[in-house]
Amino acid sequence: MQRLDHHYIDGRWVASRGTRWLPVFNPFREQVIAEVTAGDPADVDDAVAAARRALPAWQALGGAERGQYLDAFADALTRRREALIRLSCTNNGKVLAEAGIDLDDAIACYRYYAGQAQALDARQGQSVALEMQGVEARCYFDPAGVVGLITPWNFPLVTSAWKLAPALAAGCTAVLKPSEVTPLPEQALAEIATEIGLPAGVLNLLHGDGEGIGAPLTAHRDVDKVSFTGSNRVGEAVMRAASEGSRGVSLELGGKSPIVVLDDADPEQAADWIMAGIYFNAGQICSATSRLIVDTGLADAVYAALASRIDALRLGDPLDEASDMGPLTSERQREAVKAYLAIAEQEGLSAVRDGGDRRLPEQGYFLAPTLYRDVPATSRLWQEEIFGPVLCGHSVTTEAEAIELANASDFGLAATVISGDPDHAKRVGRQLRAGSIWYNSEQLVLPQTGWGGFKRSGIGRELGPWGLSAYLEVKHIVGPL
Ligand code: NAD
Repeated sequence: MQRLDHHYIDGRWVASRGTRWLPVFNPFREQVIAEVTAGDPADVDDAVAAARRALPAWQALGGAERGQYLDAFADALTRRREALIRLSCTNNGKVLAEAGIDLDDAIACYRYYAGQAQALDARQGQSVALEMQGVEARCYFDPAGVVGLITPWNFPLVTSAWKLAPALAAGCTAVLKPSEVTPLPEQALAEIATEIGLPAGVLNLLHGDGEGIGAPLTAHRDVDKVSFTGSNRVGEAVMRAASEGSRGVSLELGGKSPIVVLDDADPEQAADWIMAGIYFNAGQICSATSRLIVDTGLADAVYAALASRIDALRLGDPLDEASDMGPLTSERQREAVKAYLAIAEQEGLSAVRDGGDRRLPEQGYFLAPTLYRDVPATSRLWQEEIFGPVLCGHSVTTEAEAIELANASDFGLAATVISGDPDHAKRVGRQLRAGSIWYNSEQLVLPQTGWGGFKRSGIGRELGPWGLSAYLEVKHIVGPL
């Protein structure tokens, strides 16, 4: 069995000082496929010190050269694409097609920030025209410094790309901590760092859990900024830790996103986009559009179209091309979702499709794709992030009611609007409070567009120029002409 007992620190594989071990599962086989160290705060000290030593030279290199390394990351991921797809299927339970999309998203992100790094050079030292005042003011962008990057288990290579690529482009040096649930895919990033000759200490990768690595990394006084993706509970702990020493944070947290079907939508077409927004990755998506808000006149047609599509979903081996949906990533996650299904039963919710409607594969942490209709807005299933294949629907009679209900959430990560008229969809989209609004499409995530949430869904933005800004300090040099 594979044993992940080494961290990648200062360009070398170094034995972990941790004494606890955590099992890593294949959620389809329900088998332990590896053991990973839980890490130790002393490992964090070593990694942060290495990142600190590497910082001046990495910053001095300039954006063009840093961009070449990011292109090399993209090339190396492309060469390993097939192997990494299979690893994501094995460790995450993702089906092949979805793991392929993840890989391509990650590669596109490294490519995009390679370009952004190069463009940064031209932005350095631009003057602000203050001739009238007899003053010269030039603007520079310095790296934020040593950054701690913490990722969850649902999209490992993607969430790390969204942090690592802009951080390195900006000239920061990084300590990356993948989720202990899925440590295998991101392990490749350290291997690639060696392969492409990335200077030692620029990327350090620490395996471990929250106790062994995550909390000590966020509390470390020599970490200038922490970028965290994960749950609200842990995100708030990260923020508290960063308040010691007044250090910066970026947070990408949970969601309970709406999908609004307006009265002029085509129910069959709408059903395709609704399916993609909730059952992708077995519903373990931060931006899952898990609240369906549908015009009353269309509701029956939309539920019928969804029911037939749910029945057609093939649950099975993630590595089988025929499978549409794999198991949940962990037994723990399956149990967490099941707790919501029990609440649904207590609340007497009306199921269009639930676990009673299909036989699940005999092995694997599977859950049936579930759909409830006419869910009251007071239900816990309507209000809380479930992070599984559970869709709740609610009918409305007016557009104003749809908008009000869509916005009546603690979260604001994403939303989708479906209408027969794209301009109508866009007008409604402008009134929704969320970071990403899609209209008449599945969830299109592009490196050029920002990612992040309003309200409790987070602080700051990833991707696009905003994702780079998160790792830059703005500096002006001002004096007489
Ligand atoms: P989690 O919060 O349990 O863990 C996330 C990471 O934090 C892991 O690497 C974990 O080891 C680490 N961690 C745990 N305790 C820590 C501590 N005290 N200090 C520092 N780090 C600690 O989340 P998860 O279960 O891995 O992921 C699911 C959550 O992530 C969901 O709520 C989902 O919505 C959210 N998510 C958000 C986005 C987004 O872009 N907004 C993307 C993906 C996932």
